[in-house]
Amino acid sequence: MRSQVSIVKCADYRQPQVWNKVKESIDLIGGIEKFVPSGSSVLVKPNLLMATPPETGVDTHPEVVRGVIKVLKEIGCKIYVGDGPSVWGRYAENVDSVYEQSGIKRVCIEEGVELVRFDKRRWRTHFPLTTWIDETQYLVSVPKFKTHEFTLLTGAIKNLYGLVSGTYKTELHKQYFERKSFSKILVDIYEQKRPALSVVDGIVAMEGDGPGTSGKPRQLGLLIAGPDAVAVDSVMAVIMGVKPLDVFTNKEAKARGLGETDINNIDILGERLADVRGRPFLLPVTSLRSRIPQPIVNIIKKFIRYRPVIRHEDCSSCGVCIEACPNKIISRRNGKTYIDYSRCIYCFCCQESCPNSAISIRKSLLARLVGL
Ligand code: SF4
Ligand code: SF4
Repeated sequence: MRSQVSIVKCADYRQPQVWNKVKESIDLIGGIEKFVPSGSSVLVKPNLLMATPPETGVDTHPEVVRGVIKVLKEIGCKIYVGDGPSVWGRYAENVDSVYEQSGIKRVCIEEGVELVRFDKRRWRTHFPLTTWIDETQYLVSVPKFKTHEFTLLTGAIKNLYGLVSGTYKTELHKQYFERKSFSKILVDIYEQKRPALSVVDGIVAMEGDGPGTSGKPRQLGLLIAGPDAVAVDSVMAVIMGVKPLDVFTNKEAKARGLGETDINNIDILGERLADVRGRPFLLPVTSLRSRIPQPIVNIIKKFIRYRPVIRHEDCSSCGVCIEACPNKIISRRNGKTYIDYSRCIYCFCCQESCPNSAISIRKSLLARLVGL
């Protein structure tokens, strides 16, 4: 059967328009009961990267989450909302602050649904996932449409990384610090728990050096929904201006037969793809290496480096990156924060976690010389 993905225009987060548009995006692909039977217990998982207000565009907007809650309430579901806050190295975002500042707590209180913590875990092959996916019957994922300096795109599949229990996220980052191997882990998680449905918040998307505060919010005005997370990510890739198979998670998922990456084999309902593609997204600096054919990359990769650089003028000395670095190579000297590059694994956890956009990604001289 062909995969179906809906695209719906939604200019902003005003109520009740945004709720109606969320419902429209689900109705276009057959309605909620096609994916979640009435009366089911459902875990709704937004992408809550860090404790920032909705205006920053870093986290899934609470009104999109509310739209999903309302659709599920209409069919009498028992709804739980939760996400595992980001953990970078020894630094873990405080879940209470994340729920409070992102606006998710307020929405759950107002809608009378339970906001849960991913404290308990169960091992699945080589990683532990929250037991909330055992305790509920269905998962509805509500990702944010963003670029990602490590995986290029964070959408329906990358959102599932939040199911990994607490500090084990750091272990996975340390063990799988190459883009390809990390993408395989993300697809492993997808194999363990496939969402019944993904509804992507692309109303204010993010381009450039996402997914944290270093990315640039971009008014995109779209909601994208579908049951095949790979097809959803493939449609997102095309909207971004990249090929679906440039996203390693798509490539890996296609190799395992887990979803559709060929746009010609996806039924797109609602808006036409050609009508919603604007200028290509600004991509993360780190993604540029993927433009070179792999055999050449293998030869010159030592010389084409992208590294995190701390802009001291923007650094507030908060120490988050020191805690976040899984290799513990960031330290303070003479009142300034420095990175010991000799042991850097280029995971960019420091850049992702910095609350002040004080860490840039710089290209090596060769990368600049060859125009990458
Ligand atoms: S670089 Fe960012 S995270 Fe690191 S100490 Fe400075 S402000 Fe904090
Ligand atoms: S300094 Fe290097 S190893 Fe440490 S968090 Fe940043 S990119 Fe990762």
